[in-house]
Amino acid sequence: MYRSHTNGELRATHINKEVTLSGWVQKIRDKGFMIWVDLRDRYGITQLIFDEERTPKEMMTLASQLGREFVIQATGTVIERESKNPNMPTGDIEILVSKLTILNKSLTPPFTIEDATDGGEDLRMKYRYLDIRRKPVRDNLVFRHKVTMAVRNYLSNLDFVEVETPYLIKSTPEGARDFVVPSRMNEGQFYALPQSPQTFKQLLMVGGMDKYFQIVKCFRDEDLRADRQPEFTQIDCEMAYIEQEDILNTFEGLTRHLLKEINGVEVDKFPRITYDEAMKTYGNDKPDIRFGMKFGELNEVAQHKDFNVFNSAELVVGIAVPGGNQYSRKEIDQLIDWIKRPQVGALGMVYVRCNDDGTYKSSVDKFYDQEDLAKWAHATGASNGDLICVLSGEKNKVRGQLSALRMELASRLGLRKSDEFAPLWVIDFPLLEWDEETNRYHAMHHPFTSPKSGQLDLLESNPGAVKANAYDLVLNGNEIGGGSIRIHDKETQSLMFDYLGFSEEEAKAQFGFLMDAFQYGAPPHGGIAFGLDRLVAILGGQETIRDFIAFPKNNAGRDVMIDAPAPIDKEQLKELHLQLNLKP
Ligand code: ASP
Repeated sequence: MYRSHTNGELRATHINKEVTLSGWVQKIRDKGFMIWVDLRDRYGITQLIFDEERTPKEMMTLASQLGREFVIQATGTVIERESKNPNMPTGDIEILVSKLTILNKSLTPPFTIEDATDGGEDLRMKYRYLDIRRKPVRDNLVFRHKVTMAVRNYLSNLDFVEVETPYLIKSTPEGARDFVVPSRMNEGQFYALPQSPQTFKQLLMVGGMDKYFQIVKCFRDEDLRADRQPEFTQIDCEMAYIEQEDILNTFEGLTRHLLKEINGVEVDKFPRITYDEAMKTYGNDKPDIRFGMKFGELNEVAQHKDFNVFNSAELVVGIAVPGGNQYSRKEIDQLIDWIKRPQVGALGMVYVRCNDDGTYKSSVDKFYDQEDLAKWAHATGASNGDLICVLSGEKNKVRGQLSALRMELASRLGLRKSDEFAPLWVIDFPLLEWDEETNRYHAMHHPFTSPKSGQLDLLESNPGAVKANAYDLVLNGNEIGGGSIRIHDKETQSLMFDYLGFSEEEAKAQFGFLMDAFQYGAPPHGGIAFGLDRLVAILGGQETIRDFIAFPKNNAGRDVMIDAPAPIDKEQLKELHLQLNLKP
């Protein structure tokens, strides 16, 4: 028996008990005649004491040879601690050791294995197994487990069935590149790793499973942006014989359950806004509504004066920054520099100070009088003491820039509180999205999404205006879930592929199986997928998803611990019928 108790378990009630503990040596204090050791395992820390007068001599000697992260087993008596530590659950007691066994030695760890470590991110990733010994990392993994258990229980109670779908598949177009796997047995052929189980879950509906979910890995070979992982986890769901309303209600229920179960927070019915409203009001299809600062469009009240910058702009739009009139000239200049950075890309910013006496002072006083500025204040909802920030230019660009400014200012003002939760549905997404690179329309969600009824005719005349039965669940400025009601008949699906530029042969080669299935009584169906990593991070009140993944990849998509990706040897390449043409 390695242990009778864990290191988080013993209390004053155990005093005089004989116990055996195992774990890692976190800290040693060696006074010669007395040695204290903090012993750690997943459950906590217990203090061991070796005392010249009471501990056998050879055990004393052994204890003096311990080093950090040695794995040991200690048997002894629980005694009352002389100086108690109220900050530790086991702080009332210590173990007077009578027998010590070194189970394994350890090299000196490259960083301290404590809550606040001296190890930088790279080092911690290289030795992730040591990092996981630290409580904050371990707690995050346990937290993730709690969330996935709550998801499984909730959905299972609603009769959802978790079904596994394959990882070695054919490409599913979800907008990213596929990771591909060469097939040894089929020369020149490749599997693709799923970007999501989209087509399989639809086939499960054709197969009559009715309510499916899966906590599943998905793979997308995208250019890596900060805090994206090439492999990530979805809570993937699909239902048959449902309408959009059923999906929204079911998964609002799941989200509400998680907020209650995990965070103890009760939320009212989630607001719903259309994609168009979201873009108009927040410049963003995943608005953070924990705070206001809604956009006020100013074209009507700011154009047709002599200020040409505004007159020539497609959109003039502003936000009121609460209390912003306190900003000094220097601070405002810094803000202007901030939005001019290439990442945001604004050309400049007009601002209006809303003084406490109800007067205004703007950076464009030459063109606008008090009456004009009062209209701006009205449109942006500004009060005395606020600062109105105004941007202008091409509609989509300006919305993006003002949205970035809105989020930045909210962060600076402390309005993005991690313990506040403001979920909402964004609905009625466009079916198609214009792609500058390829100069054509792409499916905004994916090609299996159904257009709103009666809008199919618009596809020819005004494709950008067609709305889809597609929805996103947004939490605190993050898209945590997205889905759609699907096309379930072959004709519409073929039409869609045709519209998206697939020739009949291509569509048949890639998705013939799905269109075949649709001919055998496919029920109406739809679904949603949640990004589990992000969801867990938000519920955990933290920013980075990496902190909630046991073995994450770094920003360059590398696993620096196992050193992947890595070359494979010639033999293996040959077996896979691959040849590398690397430049010397
Ligand atoms: N497969 C979609 C995605 O990964 C989700 C869905 O439509 O259910 O975004």
